[in-house]
Amino acid sequence: MFLSVGIRFEANVEALNMVETAGNYTKHRRVPYLIEENGKLKTVYVPAISGESLAHAYQEHLVNEALSAGLPVCDDCRRGEFYKSMNKIHLEKKVSPIPDDPKEIEEAIVKACVVEDVGGFLYAEKPPVRRSSAFQVSYALPVKSVALFATSEPQLHARHAQIDASSKKGNVSEQMIYYVETGTALYGFIFNLDLDAVGISAITSKPILDDNEIKKRREVSLKALFRMLSSSQFGAKLSRFFPVGGITELIVTVTEHPFVVTSPIYDDYIERTKRRLNILKNFGEEIFITIAKEDRVAEEALKEAIDYLNEKGVF
Ligand SMILES: [Zn+2]
Repeated sequence: MFLSVGIRFEANVEALNMVETAGNYTKHRRVPYLIEENGKLKTVYVPAISGESLAHAYQEHLVNEALSAGLPVCDDCRRGEFYKSMNKIHLEKKVSPIPDDPKEIEEAIVKACVVEDVGGFLYAEKPPVRRSSAFQVSYALPVKSVALFATSEPQLHARHAQIDASSKKGNVSEQMIYYVETGTALYGFIFNLDLDAVGISAITSKPILDDNEIKKRREVSLKALFRMLSSSQFGAKLSRFFPVGGITELIVTVTEHPFVVTSPIYDDYIERTKRRLNILKNFGEEIFITIAKEDRVAEEALKEAIDYLNEKGVF
């Protein structure tokens, strides 16, 4: 089973993805964007949130959900440091001595850590072992039709430091001025999850774990997504720039084989997704679709998808 979710969310005055600090100026991530205006294409630079940033947040939620379900998570991942068994030092914490056979290395890592099972890893030693991530996430980008209204604006802030009486300036407080570039946009992004890849070897395509463990891991993978979206706990600088807004629309599809919803950066993404799915139906594939829009909240659609997967015996 393959899950694909398209999310639209409004975020006003957010600093979710900062890229560099030049002096006292912290810049928001920006990407070039092709926009059609009066029949001509032009490039504009718009605020964006990287897939890496969203993936990091998802994996942090995955750690919490896995631990509360009593599933294994390695020490590095528990701390939110996703080294993913990249070298001997990190792999030795899971299996020692390190086996020579790539299949045994993969097996040891998958058994020891839900995050590396679902999120993949790259062991870059001899022999190298690579496991693709079972989940995929796009950048969050402004919805095309309103992208020209997306902004990144610096906000002025001041920090105060007390200068003691012995200093030259006397007992006055000194200011340190700094700027944080904040983004405001209606964003869209896609999250996919290949439930068939969880607990299955990327080398042999055979199960590494027993059926019961695989089902539990699939369930926590979905709960982590639910929690991440429902809590808006993703991205940086939430302590003072928690985005004002929230999820405005969401679409979820479940198919037997990979299918990705039309990107929510397009206004007709729901209609297009439905039309594309209807063709798949003609091929005899069982499909599921649910939408949260207007009166329906995102959690209702996500819960419906989870109930459907439960009914289908996915977990
Ligand atoms: Zn791990």
